[in-house]
Amino acid sequence: MKTNILVQYQGGGYDGCFWEWNYFYIDKQGTFHDIQSSGRAGIDNKQDAEQFIRQDKNKTYIYDMNNEQDIITFSNESHPVHVSGVLQWFEDNPDTGIKFFVVCSECKCHIDSDELVLDENKLFCDECYTTGFCSCCESYVGETEIVQVDAGEHYGHDYICVDCKEYHDEERETESLEDLRWQAFCTGKPDMFSGKLREERLSTGELPKLLASSIRECEKALERAIIKAEPQQADEPERTG
Ligand SMILES: [Zn+2]
Ligand SMILES: [Zn+2]
Repeated sequence: MKTNILVQYQGGGYDGCFWEWNYFYIDKQGTFHDIQSSGRAGIDNKQDAEQFIRQDKNKTYIYDMNNEQDIITFSNESHPVHVSGVLQWFEDNPDTGIKFFVVCSECKCHIDSDELVLDENKLFCDECYTTGFCSCCESYVGETEIVQVDAGEHYGHDYICVDCKEYHDEERETESLEDLRWQAFCTGKPDMFSGKLREERLSTGELPKLLASSIRECEKALERAIIKAEPQQADEPERTG
């Protein structure tokens, strides 16, 4: 039998229906270690483990712990909660001599549980998580979504996500508009935002002048037309006569 292998298989099987990933480890000396076993399909001893491996079932994954690439594959392709659980198991069992690690989903660096952050079913190293975390909305958004801002305008945060920034900016805009209205109200000055000023400008300003001059133009044009038309009729008999 192969040794120093991590085996991921479908355990569980409560009520014959549900399965879940289970794990065991066969160390370099061939000793069986039950990392996680559950339900009727769970394997908790070496005999069953050997028999199981011989059956070569589908949906069973065997990772060679001598091979760094196998550990990377396990970390990338398995459920992050399980990955961190298996990492914890290896750290709790240092006798195995395995330097187990998980892979940061962002920078792909190899991390142990001291620097591991599990969030929203993703694994991050401390550094990636910190640089991609918005302390304002308290969620991981990724480094590219984080911008540096003026802490005075953003509730004391120096770095926040673009969504939070946008929200604060809009909030401030609304506030300053309200401030202006309040100031106008208090000082009795015309409210520039009510449209009253615009109306005033219309009643005293250019539009009536423009209308008046247009009317005058029309009147003049009409007069000219009448003057022109009258002598024409008077001249006609002279030309023909
Ligand atoms: Zn990272
Ligand atoms: Zn945010």
